[in-house]
Amino acid sequence: MIVIMRATATEGNIDTILQRLKEHQLQGRLIRGEERTIIGVVGAAIPPTLQEEIERFEGVQETARITRPYKLAAREFHPHDTVVDVRGVKVGDGSCVVIAGPCAVESEEQIMHTARAAREAGANMLRGGAFKPRSSPYTFRGMGEEALQLMAKARAETGLPIVTEVMTPTDVALVARYADVLQIGARNMQNYQLLEEVGRTGMPVLLKRGLSATIEEWLLSAEYVIAQGNPNVILCERGIRTFETATRNTMDLNAVALAKRRSHLPVIADPSHGTGKWYLVPPLALASVAAGADGLIMEIHPDPDRARSDGGQSLTLENFAALMPRVAAVAGALGRRMAEH
Ligand code: PEP
Ligand code: MN
Repeated sequence: MIVIMRATATEGNIDTILQRLKEHQLQGRLIRGEERTIIGVVGAAIPPTLQEEIERFEGVQETARITRPYKLAAREFHPHDTVVDVRGVKVGDGSCVVIAGPCAVESEEQIMHTARAAREAGANMLRGGAFKPRSSPYTFRGMGEEALQLMAKARAETGLPIVTEVMTPTDVALVARYADVLQIGARNMQNYQLLEEVGRTGMPVLLKRGLSATIEEWLLSAEYVIAQGNPNVILCERGIRTFETATRNTMDLNAVALAKRRSHLPVIADPSHGTGKWYLVPPLALASVAAGADGLIMEIHPDPDRARSDGGQSLTLENFAALMPRVAAVAGALGRRMAEH
């Protein structure tokens, strides 16, 4: 339920309502807009008579039930777009953010070279896996902490904030020491202990949609993070599993547009995992921006043919540089600008 206060409501009016909610073992979360304040009500059991009870209070304009299972992530709860600030890069403020980098950090030379090229081409953040969730246990699973140190070195030189995946609750403290954004991979979207642990850090979280997750399940996973007091969630559509086998996944652009409508959280798109083929990345990157994505995350590599993971879907540094002005053109056609970096 939300309580919409009148523009003329006083702090005293708001406090009275918060107090009454407490008496019902409910929590009121304040969302302060420019004109009026909204109180979001969260708790296990909202009594059926509460709406009528609260509407009688002074300063209340109206109340509304939120019928969706997620509350804190719902657009109804928080009408304005959430903007996630990553070291000054604003995600969700209407600009188009680009995150680029290799699937995995493989060596110092590889990540430094890629980071410089990403920066040069106009990327806003650097991605790179240190702990890789691989479908087969016999493939490269990442360099671990050494990769995190190399990412930090690349950040020190280029100024690009770093995005990297954390796979288990016990690694969160370690990864959080280096990363600017904690990535939750598709395979871990419903690892609820991990979601709560990254929620407790208060750091920006990039939440990828699960391979077979519905949009509602995805938003419920975001709810787990926000419920820990961390509103800094960036949703990421990365393709879902369908009957189609010609591509690695099916890039679900419905989900980009619908998540923007159902939720106030920023939504970015990952056409690399979404398609699995480097030559499909540019068209789907452009389509994602046209569909309203707040940004893109893409895999790039100096030598994709020799990449230790996801080479087939990685753009060369040259192809990435050639794509960037086209992304800017699509954003510009929609009255949007590229994020500043
Ligand atoms: C990745 O970003 O390299 C990755 C493993 O992504 P996903 O979790 O979407 O498969
Ligand atoms: Mn990858």
